[in-house]
Amino acid sequence: MKSFIPPEFQVYRDEDRCDQCRGCERQCSFGVHSYDQDRDSIISDESKCAGCQRCVIFCPMDALTIRPSPSSYRPNSSWTREKMDDLKKQAETGGVILTGCGSDKPFRIYWDHMVLNASQVTNPSIDPLREPMELRTFLGPKPDFLKISGEGKDVAIETEIGPNVVVEAPILFSAMSYGAISYQAFKSLAMAACDFGTFFNTGEGGLPKELRSDYGRCAVVQVASGRYGIDAEYLNCAAAVEIKVGQGAKPGIGGHLPAEKVSSLVAETRMIPEGTDAISPAPHHDIYSIEDLSMLIYALKEATNYEKPISVKIAAVHNFAAIASGIVRAGADIIAIDGLRGGTGAAPKTIRDNVGIPIELAISSVDRRLRDEGIRNSCSLLAAGGIRCSGDVIKAIALGADGVYIGTAALIAMGCTLCQKCYTGRCNWGICTQDPRLAGRINPHIASRRLTNLLRAWSAEIKEMLGGMGINAIESLRGNRDHLRGVGLYEWELDVLGIKGAGE
Ligand code: SF4
Ligand code: SF4
Repeated sequence: MKSFIPPEFQVYRDEDRCDQCRGCERQCSFGVHSYDQDRDSIISDESKCAGCQRCVIFCPMDALTIRPSPSSYRPNSSWTREKMDDLKKQAETGGVILTGCGSDKPFRIYWDHMVLNASQVTNPSIDPLREPMELRTFLGPKPDFLKISGEGKDVAIETEIGPNVVVEAPILFSAMSYGAISYQAFKSLAMAACDFGTFFNTGEGGLPKELRSDYGRCAVVQVASGRYGIDAEYLNCAAAVEIKVGQGAKPGIGGHLPAEKVSSLVAETRMIPEGTDAISPAPHHDIYSIEDLSMLIYALKEATNYEKPISVKIAAVHNFAAIASGIVRAGADIIAIDGLRGGTGAAPKTIRDNVGIPIELAISSVDRRLRDEGIRNSCSLLAAGGIRCSGDVIKAIALGADGVYIGTAALIAMGCTLCQKCYTGRCNWGICTQDPRLAGRINPHIASRRLTNLLRAWSAEIKEMLGGMGINAIESLRGNRDHLRGVGLYEWELDVLGIKGAGE
């Protein structure tokens, strides 16, 4: 059937610069560029272009430009080009439209409508270059009071403190499963987490055995509805265990790793036959209540000898503050909340763009609810889904998070250009693919350096901002919403965020 969808991008090749090296043909896994013998020139099929910019970056002659196509339908506020193209796609395929990455819809980004405070005359600012600044963060339950015995040098803490893990800065890598991403990308995240002193998250695809001894100590291992790759060794080699209930990009639905991405190592790691679809059910079939969740939390604590914090990850949806309260009471040590801009390797587009709420609104609500109920110290709160820079991190912590998960930002550090074609398995940047030729484009030593550089850069910036506020430890900022003011927000939004308007 002839497609009626016009190309999204225009490929412009400067013929004066192009020396016909055919590099772009080799770089593009979507088959956009090819050599035409009859015309003795490189030609482009724009209908295949995803706008990933790989060919542009690697053209040795800087001969290529990829830009949004200037062709357009007659402008129509109701029937945008995206709506019309999606409709045509469904008329041509009869299927659900899949996509990758987080939602790109113009929901209000609250990070950009909040500003931080800075010290001026009283409570002077701190110079982070000259004075120590503490970004180290402990994740897990904390006691409300400490019972201390003894005196002088013999002082001892008698209160039993639940399992905590420590990160050098409150930034962890989000769950990205091996299978959804390549082995090289997965290993890069693991290496960077260990180098920096933070954690990567295995997602629901298990942890390859050969990575366990070197990187298990920096892993948060997931237990998801598909229960892929889970055994006692998997749980015990890690620093923490996370039960995945929901994901910001696709709340309420399961996952699907297509058979062609289930290579032999992916299959071995997930403990499923090679070349079969890995379908994660929407619910955990043993969780229908908070009591059921509690049983799983305690089963995992039992399996790990009560030595590792157990996290529960949920998507930010309506009424999630009450859900979070139930999760704490069920025994979770960490709650991870994933907002509506959270990324994914593959999700139905209509779910990604229409379900869930922004993470900024979620953090403050949960923090306040848990404080009001006197159980805030029983767990740590990790925020995810749309953290783009150090400013977002520090605002998330001022709103009430203990730390953040970053996913999309980490992928961009490794080369991702948010082309949203992850679900095709043809990622030109070697990230979301199991094709050995494409995956080989990532050198874990270089990619992990890019990731640690990013974490170092953000840490330095966070220290600068903290110092400017006159605060020398990130934990002192947690939930201190008085350091935030809203700009251009409605009263109800300020209320939900728990902050005052600028000038107040
Ligand atoms: S990579 Fe650049 S120089 Fe080489 S064929 Fe393509 S456009 Fe021409
Ligand atoms: S991971 Fe790859 S396929 Fe997915 S958005 Fe990024 S560049 Fe595109």
